[in-house]
Amino acid sequence: MTKQANLQENIMNMRAIVEEYLQGSNMRAQGPWQLYAKASFIFSFLIITYFLALYFGSKSYISLLVLSSLYGFAMAIVQFNIMHDGSHRSFSNKEWINKITSSIIMIAGASPNLWRIKHVKLHHGAPGVFGTDTDIDQGPIFRFHKDSRSRWYHRYQHLYALPLYCCLNLYWTPRDIYLARKNKELRMDVFIAISLNIIFQIIIPLIFLQNILKVIIFFLVYSFTLGVIISLVFVPAHTCNIVRMFSKSECDNLDFMTQQVMATADFNPQSRLLNFITGGLNNQVTHHLFPWICHLHYPNIQPLVEKFCQEHNIQYHKFPSFSQGILDHFRYIRMMGKSE
Ligand SMILES: [Zn+2]
Repeated sequence: MTKQANLQENIMNMRAIVEEYLQGSNMRAQGPWQLYAKASFIFSFLIITYFLALYFGSKSYISLLVLSSLYGFAMAIVQFNIMHDGSHRSFSNKEWINKITSSIIMIAGASPNLWRIKHVKLHHGAPGVFGTDTDIDQGPIFRFHKDSRSRWYHRYQHLYALPLYCCLNLYWTPRDIYLARKNKELRMDVFIAISLNIIFQIIIPLIFLQNILKVIIFFLVYSFTLGVIISLVFVPAHTCNIVRMFSKSECDNLDFMTQQVMATADFNPQSRLLNFITGGLNNQVTHHLFPWICHLHYPNIQPLVEKFCQEHNIQYHKFPSFSQGILDHFRYIRMMGKSE
């Protein structure tokens, strides 16, 4: 048996192990009631923080700052726990429910169809592969991959990364308008997303706050909080010193599982708190191998995956804590900015 055939057999064996776990579990792979309960709680939290920010924000600037930031945090965990699972069709086994839950990204001003193309198809299809994975190819702004062109200002990228991560949500709208310009269906998607963003982040706040300066503060604090949390949860798992990145040609001899595992890092994968907040994105390796399984299963599947990788000499990467993963990401981009 060739090495490649052996690795393919390994993948099938690992999937069989996870299937066996699922059959013994009292929780469905997609759409268990526990996920609906969690999603209801988190979505209620979003609505409560929104109206608290608008009500108390009209009374004091301190309340406006604190509660707008809390609203940004709530929006981020809604996207991790509800939208992200919906976009992978792991929220439910009913397609219309996945469609609705993945569309929640519209209230933050982004197109769900473009998210599916960029995240589900391009990123999950080939994580860490330059030229395919758009998460590691940031154009001229950042240099995350050795094949990306080096520019003089990249030596400062570890310094300007955090302010730009804060602006991620502000960047979604012009990016989506540009990407959707030649596709009628996507244009409609983007139009609805921009309209909802204006209604929820500008018009309704204007009615409550009755002060343009306060609306600007509300919008910017919410956006910055949402942007930095989403960036720091998604980006470092594939751009840090312990994972592998690939040129397209380097993937020719790698099977799906090895490439996914080598390009991905976990952050304290057994932390129930991180799993709750990030919607299982601290278990990135498990998510990349089993994106169709809802994230509530990840803490149980992760030890099975790690054990399997150890037994089959596949490099498994994990940081003991979230903060160590973030620090390593900034060390990595500083190194990439200095190298030619
Ligand atoms: Zn994903």
